[in-house]
Parts: sequence; C-alpha cells; structure tokens
Amino acid sequence: MERLEWKAWSTLLWGLDAGDPKVIRFYLDTFRRMPDGSVRAKPLPRLQPLAIKPVRPPTVEKLIAQDRRQAREAARVLAAEAIVADVHAHGAETYAALAAVLPAWRRPPTWKRRKPGALTRSAPARRIAAMKPRPATAAPPPAPPRYVELCFETPQDQTYFYRLPPGFPAEPVPGLRLRAPLGPRRADGYLLRLVPEEEVRRELAAKRAGRSAAKGARRAEPQGLPGMAAAGAGRSDGDALSAVREVLGPADEQPYLSAPLLELGRWMSRQYGCSLGEALGAMLPAAVKKHARAEKIRYVELLESPAEARRLAALLAARAPQQAVVLETLADCPGRPTAGELLLVAEAGESALRALARKCHLRIVEEYPAERVFMGYGAEAAGGLVLNPEQRAAVEAISGSLAGEPGAVHLIRGVTGSGKTEVYIRAAEAARGLGRSSIVLLPEIALTPQTCARFRSRFASLAVLHSHLTAGQRAEEWRRIRQGRADVVIGARSAVFAPAPHLGLLVVDEEHETSYKQDSVPRYQARDLAVRRAEIEGAVCVLGSATPSLESFQAARAGRGRLHVLSRRAAGLELPPVELIDTRIESREDRRFLALSRRLRALLGRCLADGGSAIIFLNRRGWATAVICGRCGFVARCGRCQVAMVYHRDRQAGLCHYCGAQARLGAECPECRGRLQQIGLGTERVAGEVARFFPEARVARLDSDVMARRTAHAGILADFREGKTNVLVGTQMVAKGLDFPRVTLVGMVNADTALNLPDFRAAERTFQLVSQVAGRAGRGPMGGRVAVQTAFPEHPAVAAAARHDYLEFAERELVSRAELFWPPYSRLLRVVVSARLALRARERAEEIAAAAGAACAELAGSVPAGTRAPELLGPAPCPLEKLQDLYRWHLLIKSPPGECAERLIAVLRRAAAGTKRGARAAIDADPTAML
Ligand code: ADP
Ligand code: ZN
Repeated sequence: MERLEWKAWSTLLWGLDAGDPKVIRFYLDTFRRMPDGSVRAKPLPRLQPLAIKPVRPPTVEKLIAQDRRQAREAARVLAAEAIVADVHAHGAETYAALAAVLPAWRRPPTWKRRKPGALTRSAPARRIAAMKPRPATAAPPPAPPRYVELCFETPQDQTYFYRLPPGFPAEPVPGLRLRAPLGPRRADGYLLRLVPEEEVRRELAAKRAGRSAAKGARRAEPQGLPGMAAAGAGRSDGDALSAVREVLGPADEQPYLSAPLLELGRWMSRQYGCSLGEALGAMLPAAVKKHARAEKIRYVELLESPAEARRLAALLAARAPQQAVVLETLADCPGRPTAGELLLVAEAGESALRALARKCHLRIVEEYPAERVFMGYGAEAAGGLVLNPEQRAAVEAISGSLAGEPGAVHLIRGVTGSGKTEVYIRAAEAARGLGRSSIVLLPEIALTPQTCARFRSRFASLAVLHSHLTAGQRAEEWRRIRQGRADVVIGARSAVFAPAPHLGLLVVDEEHETSYKQDSVPRYQARDLAVRRAEIEGAVCVLGSATPSLESFQAARAGRGRLHVLSRRAAGLELPPVELIDTRIESREDRRFLALSRRLRALLGRCLADGGSAIIFLNRRGWATAVICGRCGFVARCGRCQVAMVYHRDRQAGLCHYCGAQARLGAECPECRGRLQQIGLGTERVAGEVARFFPEARVARLDSDVMARRTAHAGILADFREGKTNVLVGTQMVAKGLDFPRVTLVGMVNADTALNLPDFRAAERTFQLVSQVAGRAGRGPMGGRVAVQTAFPEHPAVAAAARHDYLEFAERELVSRAELFWPPYSRLLRVVVSARLALRARERAEEIAAAAGAACAELAGSVPAGTRAPELLGPAPCPLEKLQDLYRWHLLIKSPPGECAERLIAVLRRAAAGTKRGARAAIDADPTAML
C-alpha cells in the first residue's frame, strides 16, 4: 500500500513537473484527504476515464526529458497553490500528511514562502533540525553552550555575540559564514572567534550596569539590534545569557576565509576606512555567497565497443530506428560528444538517448566544463627557454626567498619584452616544488590572453578568474581553489583574495596599473594588499613592471624589497627607437586639422609597403571630443555631468563618458542656429583617417565601444596577429601586454592627453603610457620604430620615455614629490562629498574639513622631528564638479605614512559616516583618481 501510494505521488509530481495543464487539473481533481487524515491520490486505473495518459510512468519520462524549466516552475506554483487552498480548508495538519507522503526532494520550493509552520522553515533551520541528536541514540551529556562573535556586511563596526545551537555540526572555525537573526531580518555573518562564556557574561554585566563595554566598537550599539542588546536590565545572570540569540546554521558548506584573510580584512578596514564587514564582504565574490552552480554539460559515453554498438544498431533498426541511428553515430564518433551534438547529428530525440541509457549501452555524464573558463586561448608552448643571466638572477633570488624569507618583496623592473612572465612562471614552479600555491594578478585578464596561455601550457591545474565568467563558473573556480586543486590562480584585482591554501607566491604584473585600485567601497589597492598578504601568510610577493609606480620603486630603494633589473629584451631584440614629432611645427606646416601628421603618415606608408603591421594609439574613444558652436561658443554638455559630450559617429550621437547618457546632435547650434563644429580626436576618427589615406590598409579598431560586444576583442586581436588586419587603432587596450612580432610601427597620436590633467601623477602617467605603448613595437625579426606626436617634446616625462630612461625620470620626479610632500613620501587621503544641491555638498565638505583640520593640527605636535606634519588641502569643488546629477566637492590630506595616517582615517571615517543633509561623503585612501 505504501509503495503504491509513493508511486502514485511521484508519478503525479513528475507530471506536475512537466507542466502539463491536464495533469494539474487531474491533481486538483484527485487530490483527496482520507478520513484518517492522510492524503491520497485515487488509484491509477481510475485515471483512464480522465484521459490523463501522460501520467503513466513511461510517458512521464518523456515529459521530464523535455526539461521545460519554465513550465515546471508554473506547475510548481499551481501545485503549491492547490495545497495552500487545501490547508485553508482542512487545517495545518495537511502539511504533516503531505510531508509524510512526498519524497523530500520533490516538495515545491514555493511552500516555504507561502505558509508558516513545520515546512516553512528555511533551509538552514531545517538542516539544524535534522542535525539535532536523535532521541533513540544514547543521549550524550549536554555540551556547555558555545558563543561566537560575528560581524556582518554593514558600514558599522559593530560585532555581535551569538550562541551556537546544541549539536552545531560544522567546525566553528573563524571565517565561516553563519546565518543568524539580525534585528527583524536574518543575515549572514562572518565568524570572528569563539568567545568564552566568561567574556559574554562580563560584557552583559557591563552593558546592564550602563557602563560602556570593553570594546569601543560595541559602545555605539544602536537600539533594537539583536545579539546582546536583547539582554534586559535587572535580570539574573542566567537569564541574561539566555537572551543571547542563537545562530540558525552555517551559510556555506565550508569556510572560504582563512585566519590570514581575516587578518588582512582587519588591516584593510584600518587602511581604507571601511568596516571589517565591508572588507570581508569584498573578499568573497557574490557568486560564491549565493552558492551559484556552474551549468553542467551532458556528455555521452559509449559503454559497448564500437563494433558491438554497430551490431546492436542493426538489430534495433527495424524496431527503434532512432535508437539505432544514435548508437551508430556514437560508434563513429572519435571522442565523447555532448548530448546536444549527438542528437543533432543523429536527428534523434532525447527519448532514444534515454532508452539506450536505460539499456546500459551508453552513459550520460554531467560535467562542469572547465574548457569554457579559458575563453578559447590555447596553450602556448614555450618550454625549453634558457633564461638569460638577469632573468636567472631574479628567479634565484625569489626561489631563495620562498625557501627561507617569508614576507619578502621583490620588484622586477624589466623593460617591455624582457621576459618578466617567464620569471613569474619559474617562480611559481619553484613554489609548486615546495608544495605551495601561487596567485598571479594581471590588470585585465581579457586583454592579456597571451600571458594566460603561457601559464596554461606550464600548469595543468590552473584556475582563472576573469570578468567574463558566469556566476556559476566563478563559484566553481573558487571552490576548486579553496580545495587546493589549483597550483596557480590567475585573476584580476579581486583574485588577491583567492582562498588558495598554502600560499607561497603572489605576483602582481604591471604593478603600476590603476586598475588595481578598487573604486567602490572598500577602496583597496590590490598591489598593497598583495604585499601585506604575503607578509601575513609568510609568502613571497613579486611586483613587476617596465615602469614601476614610484611608490614601489621608492619602497624598494629604501630597502623594503629587493630590486631586480631586466635591462634588455629577452629574445636578443633591441628596444625600438622613439621619434618625437612636434605637433606645433607639423600643424603649422599642414594647415589642416589632422590626427596623423605628415611624418607619421610617411612612416605608416613605409611600414605598410614593407609588409609590416602598425598600432596607432590614442587614449580617447569616439569621433570628436567635443561639439561646439563656432559663432556663440555653445558646447554640447551632458545635463547630468556638465562635461562635454563626445561625438560618436557610429551612433550619430553625443555620448557622456561619465554616465553613458546619449543625445542627438544636429548640424545647427540650438542657441544661435550657427554651424556646429566637431573638435578634438577620438579613435573612431583616427581609424577613419587611416582608411582615407591608406585605402589598401586593413584597419581594425579596439576600444571599449568595440569591447562592449563580449568577446569581440579576442577575434580582433587574433585577426591582427595573423595579419588579416594590418593597422590596429585603439585605446589603452592596445597598450597593455600584447606581444605581436609583426608590428614594426607604433604611432602615438597624442602623448599629451594625460599631461595637463590636474593630478600630481600627470607626468608619471604620461611616462608610463608612452613607455608601454612604445613597448609594443619591435618584437619580431623585422625590428620596429615608434613615433610619438606631442606638443611638449622637451617635457622631462616625454623626453625620458623616448630614451627608455626610467631611472632618469624616476629620480627627477621623486625629488619633486619629496619637495611637495606627495606620495610616496606622504599618504594621500581624499574625501569626496556629493549631493544633489551644490550648497549641501559644500557645507558637508567644510564640516568634514573642519574636523580633519583639527585632527591635523593635533597630530602635527606628535610627529617625530624631521618628518613633515599632515597638511590639509581644500575643500574645493572637484575638477569634475558635477557627475550624474550630483555636485562634488573634495578635500585632500597629505599625511605622513604609518600611524598618523591611520589615525586620520579613523577621524575622517567618523566625520564622513552616513548621509547628512542630503550629502554623502566617501573616503578614498591612496586615491588614483583625482578628478
Ligand atoms: P614582458 O612580460 O617582460 O614584456 P614577455 O614575458 O612577454 O616580456 O617576453 C617577451 C618574449 O620573450 C616572449 O615571447 C617570451 O617567450 C620571450 N622570452 C622570454 N624569456 C626568454 C629567454 N630567456 N630566451 C628567449 N626568449 C625569451
Ligand atoms: Zn553624464
């Protein structure tokens, strides 16, 4: 009887799953409560008159095979509604009856949202319920209650005490996420530590006595929040302890944060002015928190020999032609096809596949497709390289540190093409030899397919974290890393938090790149985190760049790290000569406004005639940087951002590069009806100009407008590498890490775009940009040259870059930084205030500046002799005064690094907390953006 009942129910639910309305109708008709309170379906034979054929098991299988997810969801909702209706009619015991009959895994998920009661508990609650010791077994002596301290992802520094439920299953190690009640909600918090009962008691007593608790953080506990706040005054100790709320259960199956990562989080919160919860929250990808699962692929494997399969196919041909074709196709297939591919080729249906699987002729295997993660870049064979002496010295020093110098920092300054990647690979191999894992950070993974390919060819177990992964893939990679199944992790900024166990090496490639700085809370600098994490974990940190940031260079010079120089290109190639083209003279001679000067056109013509390829670089996308009226001076601006609209010809519109707003721009000035003019250059226009002057050239463009189409860049780069296109016009995207031997000319349309920005790093940025762009040339046997157009050929940054002279530039720049007390000699703290009303932004900025000024004055007295006191600049309107409808003011503090800066950050955090009078303030420590 029981068996029959189960069968009836599962049959029914299969049908419901398939979403057949007839089945649902049937469900409603036959769902019946028996007099004894149990729930039954009518016996199956009675179904026939209702014409519900699909419910019979064989047909049901077909329905499942169709796997129509949406229909299934709809059926579930309908079923749940029917059940709820029944509950209203017959009382809550229906739940118990249903629960007894239904297999647990078939319960419609909507139930728990619909009705309170036994089945409405959340998954963790149920898990705990299941975990309680069964009464049948001999009762162990009751364990004393255990208490934990949790922090949540809120901007406040508040932490809370909770009790672990009896028989808590997971090992309560720090870093584990737990679900707990937080006020009226439930939230996932990070377990910081186990707290002795004594301490909980003491804190409660202190609270009750109205004194502030030992920890400053808890002092400001807001009203109505849980944890110990539930403890009432005047109760006995025991009562007070029982008011501590209980954890609901673990939120993840394993802790993703290790003790070192927790410590890194504490450091982050001090250095970047965020809460510990915000810092820890940033370490886990959202996909991991949501337990995203990767979509699996079904592969089909033949379980017979091909000959046997063909024999079977012949036998089946008459009775089951589809199955015969499937078998035959599979027998002819060399590898293992996916189910989709197989059925497509065999022109058969899912049911044929299922039938064959049931008869054990083949097997369907569901697997997580690791291949997809690599976005199609293959493994680049590069084995058998013999390191040159400079490379060898660097590798040996790093290996030495791995063996016995935990926390060491190595800075590799290697000119473009000097084989830094090879050094990283050897270092990671050395780490692997010691049983330790490595993390390699790259500025933007999608743009550095070659580096990934090189690592891939050398490490079988490689995890890659890039922005084009789906949530499921990302979570799967994270799990793999956590389980120690990846020797090397490659990723962008946030991979610095990858939970690699036994971490031995952290590499930051192109360490000067601004993309290592996160521009939302917490505003961390991944390069500095890598250095700090290496120190905490006893690992070694390697920073590499052709143009190291002055921060890293100065640190290495000051003895906080070892400097290695790779002074020449690895493959015996020369650095390309750089020619500066003075645009002031050129434009006087040309008398036309052109992107390419006469000289650059001549060079490009020769390059193409010789069969080479060229990269033309301009740091701006679009057609024209502004549209103005020549008569009245009208400038087309974004209404929300007050910046000039950039004209994009392919969209026939002006585009705001700060908020994405788009506006049609006609030929006439809206103010005076004069003619509108397009001024300034963008990549679109440059590409057009190249095509006009060189009709035979095959021109491609690469910038973020093109990148918007997900994987377009990979195709564009592949075409260029293979010579299908021979002129590549682009923005920074073509300046980074690309290694194309065909390129014999690199032209920079305007080296001055960064030079005149109101930013103390303007010269450094210009130097880096010119050097990086120049580094793309001359990487093959045909050699190469670089032409840079500038209006300031004698500017020290431009001139030094043209001579590939990093040292000269760095020495000179460091002198002026020291004089003016800019980083690396000071730490810069920036506060940006934004509000809908300009006046409010100003008032709030002035308020914060007053607090900051007072703190600076106070701290000035305590700085040691010989160091400079903190200085406050501003408040003042930001250079970009209005963005996205918000007016912006900012202030800057130049502080001596170390404790003084940390104390100032604490002061700023208090002053900047919350929204006051409609103005929000954001703290940015070590900012890279000054606009
Ligand atoms: P970087 O990262 O410093 O710009 P890469 O790592 O891209 O330089 O190296 C440039 C090229 O030099 C690559 O094609 C690489 O295979 C090659 N290379 C690296 N090391 C050596 C070596 N020791 N001998 C010969 N070629 C090398
Ligand atoms: Zn805008």
